[in-house]
Amino acid sequence: MKKVVKFGGSSLASAEQFIKVGKIIKADKERCYVVPSAPGKRFSADTKVTDMLYGCYALAEEDKDFSGELKAIRERYQEIIDGLKLKLSLDEEFKVIEKNFKEKAGDNYAASRGEYLNGIIMAAYLNYTFVDAAEVIFFKDTGEFDAEKTNEVLSERLAGCANAVVPGFYGSFSDGRVKTFSRGGSDITGSIVAKAVKADVYENWTDVSGFLVADPRIIENPAVIEVITYRELRELAYMGATVLHEDAIFPVRQQGIPINIRNTNAPEDKGTWIVGSTCQKSRYVLTGIAGKKGFCAVNIEKDMMNSEIGFGRKVLQAFEENGISFEHVPSGIDTMTVFVHQDEFMNKEQKVVAGIHRLADPDSIDIESDLALIAVVGRGMKSTRGTAGRVFAALAHANINVKMIDQGSSELNIIIGVTNDDFEAAIKAIYDIFVVTQL
Ligand code: ASP
Repeated sequence: MKKVVKFGGSSLASAEQFIKVGKIIKADKERCYVVPSAPGKRFSADTKVTDMLYGCYALAEEDKDFSGELKAIRERYQEIIDGLKLKLSLDEEFKVIEKNFKEKAGDNYAASRGEYLNGIIMAAYLNYTFVDAAEVIFFKDTGEFDAEKTNEVLSERLAGCANAVVPGFYGSFSDGRVKTFSRGGSDITGSIVAKAVKADVYENWTDVSGFLVADPRIIENPAVIEVITYRELRELAYMGATVLHEDAIFPVRQQGIPINIRNTNAPEDKGTWIVGSTCQKSRYVLTGIAGKKGFCAVNIEKDMMNSEIGFGRKVLQAFEENGISFEHVPSGIDTMTVFVHQDEFMNKEQKVVAGIHRLADPDSIDIESDLALIAVVGRGMKSTRGTAGRVFAALAHANINVKMIDQGSSELNIIIGVTNDDFEAAIKAIYDIFVVTQL
């Protein structure tokens, strides 16, 4: 068995955290490839090293003195090195970084040094081989990740290392310039490494014990999801539930490698398994609930809409022409509603309305704002009678008016529209009926 283990910034924010991580890795000899993030926050008011690097480099870009900021970054690493009692000096590395900052190597290069330096420390601490991500992870000139070239080079390189540390978050263009993924991108690196070494598991270590059934800001101490499929995860992540970078599932998904989300501060917790498919039923019929506020519903009416071929296309064209993506399109016999993000739509509202009039000639258009969408997601719903009934009974009992219902054809989710004001109460009502009453 081979495991790839990725540790997030909070897991590597200090020497104490490094020691926990070292113990986790040494506890299982199958944990042979390690992907570290940059040191994150040690306490809530702290600053992540990645953000310190962006700030420091912004000064360099403006030809301002950045020595104080670079020194503060250096101290973060020195504190870790001293705490681990390592005989490691980053003097040369910092000389190179200072020089490259002065030569304006770019903010991607600057940000990537967070993971790069942490990777050097991690490799020294574990006595693993350090593999610079710039030599094995590639981007095309268009800025897109080059999956093919990366897999070829990375798998060959790691085939020669029984144990290695590959820093997360960055790679390089073919001319050697460093490029980073978007924020939180070390998750993607972990997934890419797992694919390259054909790992049995990709363990993603963070500071929570897995995906939660609902948002802890709304539900106190929500249950942890034990097993979730990639498709369910996509649905929940889309609706705002985040633990893992969205793009991290694609490389491992192709290879059927499961992801196990784990907690560095509670390593005995089993965490959440993210898998391709499973016969394991969710404990509560539903797997998770997530949602977002801030939607608008554009209601379009036209008599005999049902028999007018192309009506829907014309309406959606008005949104497309204004660069607005739509979220859901529930429809009736003579009505059609388009749900859009309010902040995206607001400035272009009148243009879109005019476009719909011009293209589709409706009888009336009416706009409703301040709506929220809630996704109730669960692979178990397909085979369980009465799920929708329970959801809506719970909402009715909580005095919540349902504005929209959309059950995806996959029967994987039910999307419910309510007002922004009813959002939290609706999530509580659904959580209570499925989870609390089952406990
Ligand atoms: N350090 C980077 C960030 O803060 C990448 C990561 O941690 O995944 O976004």
